[in-house]
Amino acid sequence: MSKRDYYEILGVQKNATEAEIKKAFKRLAMKYHPDRNPDDKSAEEKFKEAKEAYDILSDAQKRAAYDQFGHAGVDPSMGGGGAGGFGGGANFSDIFGDVFGDIFGGGGRSGGGQRVYRGADLRYNLELSLEDAVNGTSVKIRVPTLVACEECGGSGAKKGTTPTTCPTCHGQGQVRMQQGFFSLQQTCPRCHGNGKIISDPCNSCHGQGRVEKKKTLSVKVPAGVDNGDRIRLSGEGEAGENGGPAGDLYVQISVREHPIFKRDGSDLYCEVPIGFTTAALGGELDVPTLNGRVKLKVPEESQTGKLFRLRGKGVKSVRGSQTGDLLCRIIVETPINLTGKQKELLREFEGSMKGNGKHSPAHHGWLDKVKSFFDDMKL
Ligand SMILES: [Zn+2]
Ligand SMILES: [Zn+2]
Repeated sequence: MSKRDYYEILGVQKNATEAEIKKAFKRLAMKYHPDRNPDDKSAEEKFKEAKEAYDILSDAQKRAAYDQFGHAGVDPSMGGGGAGGFGGGANFSDIFGDVFGDIFGGGGRSGGGQRVYRGADLRYNLELSLEDAVNGTSVKIRVPTLVACEECGGSGAKKGTTPTTCPTCHGQGQVRMQQGFFSLQQTCPRCHGNGKIISDPCNSCHGQGRVEKKKTLSVKVPAGVDNGDRIRLSGEGEAGENGGPAGDLYVQISVREHPIFKRDGSDLYCEVPIGFTTAALGGELDVPTLNGRVKLKVPEESQTGKLFRLRGKGVKSVRGSQTGDLLCRIIVETPINLTGKQKELLREFEGSMKGNGKHSPAHHGWLDKVKSFFDDMKL
């Protein structure tokens, strides 16, 4: 397939400055960006064309090679844009990489000269409970998608008829125009690059070849998935155009917040409130895990905030082979709703500790810090 001249694509002179090239590309990119022209294949094509031209002409070395040898001197499939590109040169393809991948990945020409397009990829957000994410589950989802029209078998032509080869471009999708010395190749204005004309469109899909339909899919969620994980259902995205392959459906996992557990990778965290006498004297606690209760031994003199690790009571990640741990943080509670008698006992208890700093490990060090803070201020 012969190509249009890069300068011509961007609409600049051969001696255009870097800034002029950049400006020209920006203007075209704004105009033909796929996000702004949904379902407009000719805009996509123009956008792709402009980007390729820009990639070459914005790179001094590639531009020199192109000036000297034409298209034979450059291979646009090698590497991204040069320095000082749109939004930071090489980053351009990073930013729009997915868009290009989805839209242009399967674009091409079939034998008959007709353009075929791979269907768009779709994303479905699936919310799961922590238990389902950890243990795995199977869910049914309903997704709206474009499928090949049954009535016309995806051709877009009325039942019993077939699309005819475009007489203007003879099925090539492109036409050549003579302008002075130049011979320009353009997308065929009659068939918009399809190469085929549907004179009698299908009633069901109005010539689009695809119809929107809700389909029910069964998704197997493997054990251990986490927020942001994606499950790819190959070929379950939108149907392709003109017989192109269907896109994929990505099921994106988001896990609902759990009332007790927080997950971090393969570890689980939870907070366990305990009374201050248990914290002081030690004891055994019932702590929850995803598989039921287990006993946790708390040694005497345990301070609030202390973490206890229960090995193997966490999560087995979908990628890892090891099961994580459950980390329980104890929170020592101040007793409330005390009776007169209980208050009296506490006062008596406090009296027995008076003047003896060894009962309050943190308090003692804290007082020292406060003292030196005030001493420093006096200087
Ligand atoms: Zn149809
Ligand atoms: Zn045509």
